[in-house]
Amino acid sequence: MTGTHAQVAVIGGGIIGCAVAYYTAKAGFEVTVIEKGELASGTSSHCDGNILAIDKEPGFDSKMSLKSQELVDDLAKELPIPFEYRKPGSILVCETEEEMEAAEQWVKRQKAEGLPFRMLDRTDLKNESRYLADDLLGGLECATDSTVNPYLLTYSLFEGAKTYGARLLKYTTVTNMDYESKNAQYRIETNRGVLTADYVVNCAGVWAPTIGKMLDLTIPIFPRKGHLIVASRQLPVSPRKVMEFGYLLSKFGKQRKVDPETEKYGVALVFEPTQSQNFLIGSSREFVGYDIAVDWTVVKCIARRAIRFYPKMSEMLLIRMYAGLRPWTEDHLPIVSAVDRYPNYFIAAGHEGDGISLSAVTGKVVSELITGNTPSINIEPLRLDRFNKKGVYQ
Ligand SMILES: Cc1cc2nc3c(=O)[nH]c(=O)nc-3n(C[C@H](O)[C@H](O)[C@H](O)COP(=O)(O)OP(=O)(O)OC[C@H]3O[C@@H](n4cnc5c(N)ncnc54)[C@H](O)[C@@H]3O)c2cc1C
Repeated sequence: MTGTHAQVAVIGGGIIGCAVAYYTAKAGFEVTVIEKGELASGTSSHCDGNILAIDKEPGFDSKMSLKSQELVDDLAKELPIPFEYRKPGSILVCETEEEMEAAEQWVKRQKAEGLPFRMLDRTDLKNESRYLADDLLGGLECATDSTVNPYLLTYSLFEGAKTYGARLLKYTTVTNMDYESKNAQYRIETNRGVLTADYVVNCAGVWAPTIGKMLDLTIPIFPRKGHLIVASRQLPVSPRKVMEFGYLLSKFGKQRKVDPETEKYGVALVFEPTQSQNFLIGSSREFVGYDIAVDWTVVKCIARRAIRFYPKMSEMLLIRMYAGLRPWTEDHLPIVSAVDRYPNYFIAAGHEGDGISLSAVTGKVVSELITGNTPSINIEPLRLDRFNKKGVYQ
């Protein structure tokens, strides 16, 4: 591979790297994706596939998600491989009066931002599914929420990029990088040789900080582990995505009224019926490094939580479990940003539990930064240097 040149080198073949490759190749650039394993071998195959606005902070975050939902709708029409796209909306369910009041505030704020939210009462929940626990008080719905198979969407994005000339270097690990100012190029060392590039996009998810360090950049992304259970659909428990309202509290690191183990592992019900007729049941949130081994204590805690909301779930067969690493940032927003010190170097990482939802808008915005067009959304809140301003690092 020594001596080869890429106009745009995308490091990381997860859903974000492949979305960046798709939109950038479509814009007429010659794109090379460098991936240390297979496509989607990182977090993008260790997750579930929700394209949600329901769990986004009202305002910038939820509007960015809505934009991404619209783009995914377009992708469903233009990409070469179907990716199990459906858009049935999703719901959050409430256990207490306090949650119902917080849900009303959430709906009011989202509606004020123009999103299609509405409150649900007990009757709505019964009409939603007769398997939901009888004591639930109600909840809320976001009508535009959709779902995909994240693994298939990653592959489909790359296949789409390939039709515009993109290439993939798989089993190729980036080991070092320099910027050569005399010829305005990046020199990228890999285990399979050296590559030069005019543009670099760091899409390495939880490994983005390691890639950043090669140029002495501090990228404050940390792995936040999450477990999922795959269960067989013996009964039609619910037709679409259901989460407990406490999921929002867990996601944003707020206190909940649950038992100590549920709190410790950040467990909150996330339920998703898949097109392949299984259920994905989650989830947990822990900072335990890069280990993705399944922890039975956490799995049991997730199963107990699922049974609390769907008592019939105790009769379902468990097929398998897995865990993945969410690329977490302190303010729960991704980093989609140029870098002051290095021309034509971009970061697109740190999407925590929202990388599937935000893949399309991220890919589109990075392609706009590369082509020099005005980004489709305001990207100020996504800049790397926001952390500097907060004093997170020097
Ligand atoms: C349990 C769980 C459930 C989730 N559910 C959802 C959901 O429903 N909806 C949602 O929107 N998001 C969800 N997420 C989050 C989502 O999965 C991630 O945000 C997303 O997959 C991140 O994609 P990525 O491309 O940034 O990272 P990755 O998919 O990890 O891709 C990064 C790639 O970089 C490669 N790489 C790393 N280092 C190098 C190197 N040195 N050289 C070359 N290649 C390298 C890796 O091999 C990897 O393939 C969930 C996550 C978890 C853990």
